[in-house]
Amino acid sequence: MSNRNRRTSRTDPDRMRDQRAQEDKTVVFLGAGASRADGAPLQGELFRDYFRHYNDQRRASIDHNWDRELATLFDVFFGINVDTPDSVNHAFPTFEEVLGVIELANSQGETFRDWGTSQATNAQQKPRLQHIHDVMILLIAEILDHKLRGNATHHPRLVRSLQDAGQLRNTSFISLNYDILIDNALLGAHGLDLDYTVEFVNTGHGWRKPRTAQSVKLFKLHGSLNWLYCPTCRAMRITPQEKGVCRLKWRPDDCVCSKCQTLAVPIIIPPTYFKALSNLYLRQIWHAAEQALLGCRRIVFCGYSFPDADVHVRYLLKRVEVNGARTPDVFVVNEHADKDATARQAEKGRYTRFFRDKAKIHWTERSFEDFCENPASVMEVTA
Ligand SMILES: [Zn+2]
Repeated sequence: MSNRNRRTSRTDPDRMRDQRAQEDKTVVFLGAGASRADGAPLQGELFRDYFRHYNDQRRASIDHNWDRELATLFDVFFGINVDTPDSVNHAFPTFEEVLGVIELANSQGETFRDWGTSQATNAQQKPRLQHIHDVMILLIAEILDHKLRGNATHHPRLVRSLQDAGQLRNTSFISLNYDILIDNALLGAHGLDLDYTVEFVNTGHGWRKPRTAQSVKLFKLHGSLNWLYCPTCRAMRITPQEKGVCRLKWRPDDCVCSKCQTLAVPIIIPPTYFKALSNLYLRQIWHAAEQALLGCRRIVFCGYSFPDADVHVRYLLKRVEVNGARTPDVFVVNEHADKDATARQAEKGRYTRFFRDKAKIHWTERSFEDFCENPASVMEVTA
């Protein structure tokens, strides 16, 4: 049955209200470049920044055996001895690169020489390679926590600008980042609730259930550093305004499920080729994001280079484009001071060749900072 037939029983005012609501909806898509504007390290700098931080901590006699394990991995796999002073000058592999190698071995039930046996130091007795995979995820949490603490200016500015223009309630956010920059900015918005579109087990205890009429939706497609998940109960806990995942390293006793005593795990899914998005909560979030995209008039991509590897994101967008009743306008806000011409051209090419309706793609030549300052000026093409 078509949408039109299904709606014949509804009154005209109903229909007009729905159409008006759709008319003005915007989905803001936040890629790595948006977090970068507020101080997050680039993919390629992640490990360098981490080991700098790690060496600072060692000088202050703060040590954790997970850091030692990671140092061993870099020595054995990439020939980088992070304990030497010049190690920060090395070309470090990207997070994706390292994780990709480990994930593929794990998914095929294979391992590397000396990396297959359980270690006495590993409390959970996981195979060493699987354990190092978990450690790397937590490393991302720790370095983002360290680099981003209290520094954000652009994300709060964006939320204020949208609220001042009366547009915040018509806007949803899709974030591909694990950090909580946009989360904290939205939590700071007066009179509005943040809706992650999933249920948290601690709702009513430190986390308020979002009021439907006063909420702004945020879909975190690859998980979030403020979520702790119990794989036994399939229950998710939120640690508002704090990257609770960091507690797993330093205060694991705080991360035990109160119902079943299982140690929580982070929900952080890097966008690799191999990873299936099978977690129950993430499935729900991806579905809700699709619904929001289907009902929107425009999508604003901020700091998202649209890499070929993001097959899940591409599938989501293609579903929206082919299945939706109308094609949203696409605005790309990817400009920044040190962007080189070749990268710009390649990005532009990826956007243009992917979307069906080329006339609806607007390459804005604006930066995320410009958008935060004045969102309307970026979207004025179809105003
Ligand atoms: Zn549990």
